[in-house]
Amino acid sequence: MKKIGVLALQGAVAEHIRSLELAGAEAVPVKRVEQLDELQGLVIPGGESTTIGKLMRKYGFMDAVRQFSAEGKPLFGTCAGLIVLANEIEGQEDAHLQVMDMTVARNAFGRQRESFETDLEVKGIEEPVRAVFIRAPLIKRVGAGVDVLSTYKDEIVTARQGNLLAVSFHPELTDDYSLHAYFVQMVEEASERSV
Ligand code: GLN
Repeated sequence: MKKIGVLALQGAVAEHIRSLELAGAEAVPVKRVEQLDELQGLVIPGGESTTIGKLMRKYGFMDAVRQFSAEGKPLFGTCAGLIVLANEIEGQEDAHLQVMDMTVARNAFGRQRESFETDLEVKGIEEPVRAVFIRAPLIKRVGAGVDVLSTYKDEIVTARQGNLLAVSFHPELTDDYSLHAYFVQMVEEASERSV
């Protein structure tokens, strides 16, 4: 069984752990960088990207997670976690991890549609995925190496670049764990490659 961490500095952690377990992985909350050594994949959850970024810097996670990713171990960013992965954030000087070639816009649905639920077609997943959007970001630009997996009203809400998976919404807040199963599969394939 693959061991996958959920970065537990701020945000929706317990729900990701439950969904990863349902998808057949061992899942643990991650509070210290040393824990990364024992993991094959990492989820960066939703919450508040500025706070998550600040805490990642404070506890030494920026370089450690970049290194983890450079070793070919998959990262899964959801909502604020997607913002943390991005190379570029609209209207901000600084981005966070800057590992994924995309530009994101924060709180992109505006006040009228702060939160809503919908079913989305996602490339690579058979059944529509139940998606909960909460003050969600959108992906405004992707680089050539990024595959768009899903759109909502012509806007990009799911993308993959090799071992990086990013979604605008909260896949952990419903009983539908198909995206977690997709990520567990990415982790399994990555571990096979590195054997
Ligand atoms: N609006 C938050 C941010 O910009 C993300 C919201 C979320 O993760 N639900 O960081």
